Order: sequence, then C-alpha cells, then structure tokens
Amino acid sequence: MPELRRYNQDPSRCSTYRKIALFLATSQTPPFLTLPTMYSQKSIYDEASQYPKDASNRASKRQDCPDTSTEENNEAGLVKIHKKRRLGASELGMFCESLYDSQLPSTLAGTELPSTPEKKKQTPQPDTPQNVRVLYNLVDNLRLRTSMLVDCSVPTVYYGARTHKQLQQVIKEFARTDYCGQLQMTVLSSRDYSCVREFDKKTWSTRNDMCRACVKPYTTKSIEQRADSNCKYYDNRGSLNHQTLPPAFDLDELIAKGEEIRACPYYAARGMAASAHIVFCPYNYLIEPSIRSSMQIDLSDNIVIIDEAHNIEDICRDAATFTFTRDNVQASIKELEVVAGYRFANQDALRYVEFLLRAFKGWDDWFVNQTPFINQKPMTGNEAVFTWTAENFVQTLNNHNIGQQQYKVYRKYFMSTSYKTLLVLFVYRFFFLNVCNFVWVSYLFQSILMLVKFENVCLLIVSIWFVLKSIEKETLSLRLLCMNPAVVFDSLKVARCIILASGTLTPLISLHSELGTDFPLQVSPNHVIPPDRVWIGSLSTCPGGGRLECSARGAGETRVQDGVGAALRCVCRVTPHGVLCFLPSYTLMNKLVNRWKETGLWGELNELKQVFMEARNARDHSDVMEEYYSSVCGGRGALLLAVYRGKVSEGMDFRDHQARAVVTVGVPYPNTYDMAVKEKMKYNDRYSAQRHLLSSSDWLLVQAYRYIIIIIISSLYILTEGLGTYPKLRLGNNHHTFESLVNSPNSLESFMQTMTLRESEDI
Ligand code: SF4
Repeated sequence: MPELRRYNQDPSRCSTYRKIALFLATSQTPPFLTLPTMYSQKSIYDEASQYPKDASNRASKRQDCPDTSTEENNEAGLVKIHKKRRLGASELGMFCESLYDSQLPSTLAGTELPSTPEKKKQTPQPDTPQNVRVLYNLVDNLRLRTSMLVDCSVPTVYYGARTHKQLQQVIKEFARTDYCGQLQMTVLSSRDYSCVREFDKKTWSTRNDMCRACVKPYTTKSIEQRADSNCKYYDNRGSLNHQTLPPAFDLDELIAKGEEIRACPYYAARGMAASAHIVFCPYNYLIEPSIRSSMQIDLSDNIVIIDEAHNIEDICRDAATFTFTRDNVQASIKELEVVAGYRFANQDALRYVEFLLRAFKGWDDWFVNQTPFINQKPMTGNEAVFTWTAENFVQTLNNHNIGQQQYKVYRKYFMSTSYKTLLVLFVYRFFFLNVCNFVWVSYLFQSILMLVKFENVCLLIVSIWFVLKSIEKETLSLRLLCMNPAVVFDSLKVARCIILASGTLTPLISLHSELGTDFPLQVSPNHVIPPDRVWIGSLSTCPGGGRLECSARGAGETRVQDGVGAALRCVCRVTPHGVLCFLPSYTLMNKLVNRWKETGLWGELNELKQVFMEARNARDHSDVMEEYYSSVCGGRGALLLAVYRGKVSEGMDFRDHQARAVVTVGVPYPNTYDMAVKEKMKYNDRYSAQRHLLSSSDWLLVQAYRYIIIIIISSLYILTEGLGTYPKLRLGNNHHTFESLVNSPNSLESFMQTMTLRESEDI
C-alpha cells in the first residue's frame, strides 16, 4: 500500500517494475466473482483545504472543544455534549491512573521490587500538597470517565495492521500527508514490546506480571500513597504525551522517547488513545473481544480500518477458538479446595466458591467419561481425536450438570458484588488467578453458548501425549473450534463503518458469506504500474523436458530438486540485486540445500548471489534480514530462501532492488492433515447451500491462491506446475518450458535486460 500511494503521485518516476497486490487482486478478477465497484476520487495526499468539510474540519471541531468542560451551549439553547475532548498532559496522566485500577492485581503483593530511576516532577505545581494533588487527580479522572460515557459525533479512526512493522510503514505514510499535525495519533502495543523497565526474570515469569505487580496501588489505605506506584516509569507516564512527541511517531520512536524521559510508553500510549483521532494498533486489538475489552477500546460509532484484511477470516475464527486441558481443571479444583477451607464473612462468596468447585468437579468427571471414546480412536502423530457435533456436546455437558442451567447460575454470581470481593481475595491471598481465573471460566461458558447458538462450532476432544525428556505424559484437552468467522465479526458491527483493505480479497463472494455481512461500497483502483514493467510466468518442465512437479511427492525426487535448482540459478543469473524464493516448508528447504551442496549447485548459486536462508526463530530472523538488506544492493546481490506463511512472507517490505524477482515453488495449500482445516472443509460442504459458503475444494483453492497472490504481488516469476484458475487468469499465456524460459523472445532474460536499460535511462 505505501508503495502504491507513492507511485500514484507520479508514476513516471516509478523506478520499480514489480507488480503489486491491488492490481492482481482486482483488475483481472473474473467478472462473475466481483460485485459492482466504485472508484476512488480523492487521495489522502490532496490538500486538506480542498475538502473543507472533511478531516481538517473535524480536527478543528475537536480543537474547539472546551478544555475543561464537556458541555457547551449551542445557539438554540440546547446543551451539546462531547464524548471526548483534548486533554492536557496532566489530564492524560490521570487517565492512565484510571487504567491501572482496571488491571488484574498481581500475585506478588508483598514482593520487594527492583528500584527504577528517579521520578520526574509532575504537574500540577511541585509545591501543591500531595493530598490536594490526589484530589485533583480523582476529580479529573471522574470527569474523564463521565465524558466517555456520553455519545459523540466525532468518530475515532482505529487502524489495524498485522504487525508493528506494517504499522510503521503506514505511520510513515501518514506523516507525509497533509493531515499529520492536524490530527493526533497514538500507537498501541503490548507490554512485551513497550515496557522499558528492566525485566527481572527471577522474580516474574512475564512482563505482564511484573507490570501488574508494579503499578497496583499500595495495599495501605493511605490516600497519599495511592498516587504513586512501584514503577517510576509509570508515575512519569503523563510526561510522554502529544506535546512531547512528534506529530507522527511509530512504536520505536515512542519507546525511544519513553526511555529518554523515563516514562512508560505502554501506559502513555493508552492514555493518549483517549484523545487521539487515529489509533494505530495490531488488528487483533480490534478483532478479539477479550483484548478489546482489556485495552478499553470501544468501537461503537467509530471507524475501523483493517489493513491486510485477507487474514480477517482466519483471525476471526482463531479469536473464537478455545482450548483447555484436564490439567487446568484439576489444578483449579486444588486451589478451590484450599479457598473453600477458609471462613468467609460473606456467605455469598462461600456459595460461589462451592458452586465453582462443583462445576470443576463436573468438568473433571466429564473428561474421565470421554476417555473410552478417545481410546477407540487411532493415534495420528502424537494425538488421538474425537469430534462432536455442537448438539451432542451440549447434551454431554447437561448430563454432567455443567450445561446451560449452570451457566445461568454462574452469570448470576458473576454479576454480583461478591464476585469482585472474591476476585480481590483470591488474588491477594491465594494466588488463585495463576491457575483458574474467572476470565477463563467466563470465556469457556460464553464460548460454548455463543458458538452453539450460531451452530458454528466444531468440538474436538483431543488426547495429547507430551514427551518430556524420557517421561511420557498423557493429558486430555478439549478444543472448541469456531468454523464461522461471522461469530466474531458480528461484534465489530457496532462501528460506524468498517473498511477492509487488501490487495488479495477476491473472490469477494467468499468474504461476504464467511463474514456474514455485505460490503455495499467497494473501491477497486487500477494498478499504477504499467503491465510492460511486469513479467509473470510459470515453468512446467525440468531441463531436458521431464515434468517439474512441485507437490509434496514430486519435490522428493532428486530430478525435480535439480530442476528447481537449475531454474533458480537461471533467475539469479539474469536478475540484478535481490531475489526471493518461497518454498512450501523448512523441511523442503533443507532437503534442497543438501542436494544442491552434493551436486555443486549451491556453490554456483553462491557465486551468483550471496545466499541467505530464512531463520526459524525471531532473533536470528532479524539478523538474517539485516544482512540480506545490506548485501542486496552491493556487489553480486543476494538470494533469500524463505517459507510460505513464514516470517518473510508477510509484514516485510521489499522495495525496488530488495526483490527484483520472486520465485514461488509449489502452491501453498492449507495443510489438509490439520484437524482444523479438515473440519472447516466439512463445515463448508455442510452449509455451502444454506449460507452461500464456498465448497470445501473452492475454499481450499481460494486460501492457497489468495496467499500466493500476496507473494505474486512483487513477483516476476512463478516456478510451479498445475496452476489453478486464479493465477492462470493473471498469468495469461506466459507458461514456459525450461528451454523457452531461457531462449524465447519473451524470456525472463530479455525482460530483465529491457528493464535494466530503462532504469538507467530513467536515472
Ligand atoms: S508501568 Fe510501564 S514501564 Fe513500568 S512495568 Fe508496567 S509497562 Fe513496564
């Protein structure tokens, strides 16, 4: 997307000859798969003043909001109430204060915490007495909370992308628009990314635990002490705000500034979200209801933009998928038995504990009674699987007194004040939340009922054998698989509008049916890169004419492995700078490299390009990418071997010289041995007519080619056989044998020569 916008300004200056996503996804889509489209008239690069009723107006509307009041009188004498207003630094700090109250308290109440740097002096005035400051804070906090309850006519834009790297690119583009500086923005992230306090691994297992322990108010009743926490970065969070940050900042810049002024970026960003016009965040913050609620994101009447939205079906399904084990249940029972041994002043609390204890014992019995079913099933890999329909599953729950009736009782307790008393009690006294927390129970019950209601559930009981050193450990787990993304997408519909942006959303008919919604407005701009700057072709034969079949079986043959290597050598020989090659798996990557080392082809590739292999772990991955980027432009260029659905395949930016050619080997179908994929295919076949879903085979094809198009977006070359309908439509007739790839007038080599010549003329 950023590339597209840049070249859109002046295509003649475009130095790349890569094809990009939007073109492939939209302009050549078969007409029967698309709905009528509407073409965009306005660019974000247009002067804001050209559109007086647009965003600049909205910005000034916010700026006009009174700073200290949430009400103003309009001409008709009516009271106009604003939900949000611009906040000063001290007020933002107070908002953050309110956030820690909503945090789950830590289990480390009495632990002495490592010291943190000296806290900066805070507003209000340094000589204001502490108790007066605390009162100011309380009043401000109350005012802010009240204002947030009131309806608002100015929506906030929530922009979600898959990774922070992608957000970084979008924010960079935002910084180049006329709106930057007029609209306030913030970027949300997890503590794992943005905590700047030194992490003490010996004391805490996660940064979240550490933070919750640090920012919880002291247990003392003294109101003065409530103003401070055990993390000085947290206490200084108010000094990291829209005034001290540049008008557009990404996560790295936010963290760097936080470290510089010793203020917590995590809480500062959350605080700034209260007054921001645009909130950038990873898209699971917007899609997963549990994260939304913990980050206090309210989408009602706001605008949601999901970038790279081809992932939306998967994310929605994952958000409603849930797994827990018998070990969880048994650990919870143990904890509850300890809790039940205490004397409670509040009898309701005791009744609640006893109710939970009965429920967990019911779950334990349920697991035991399912064991015979599992035992009849064969082991595949390290698990045996038994699957229920939703109706049968709920019946088994009812039989064990953990079904719909009991959920009603649970809800009743959950809403009561004794629940809150217990929550505090458990956390501070019994460390109960470590094992069994209320969110867990609540989620379980709610998931079951929600999924059953929508008839979208596939239930699996899975027996998994964990091998721990030499000891085999067997456990039972229950997995609720959500087959219908509409279940989760439904909760996003409170937004004023939802914009899905991607170059690979087609076929849209699948998207409508899977998400259970219509998209009345569709914008399909044409691609800005002229077709003569793109070369896409396929290869179907090895040198000498044998079939080049890159399926799992075919790729095992040395003849095919040598053919792939020869083709890759050909691409590297004629392509300047960077070449990417995507393979179906790490296993095949290693197999090919070993074979090429045996035959000497590995040495030849290394003479043509500096060769890199995608790393499996995140830390090595950044090192590999850094080296690749630095060597791609110099000397002989570089070749990067990567894996479909791996770290390189999405969220990385390869511009211009960084990927002059992309080679894809095989077709990245979802793994049909995966139980979730199998069940989804069954589900689609069952409901294809009733819910206008794609049949299982079409669904599989769409998943594969939607994915491959993500890679083709910058691709010059596809190395695979047996291409399906979608890429064929995009490829035209540019199919090659090994010989024609090298010798024909439309060969890759002649294309590269033409482009290199043009590029030097452009310069
Ligand atoms: S308040 Fe901020 S800096 Fe302190 S522990 Fe929590 S996330 Fe880290």
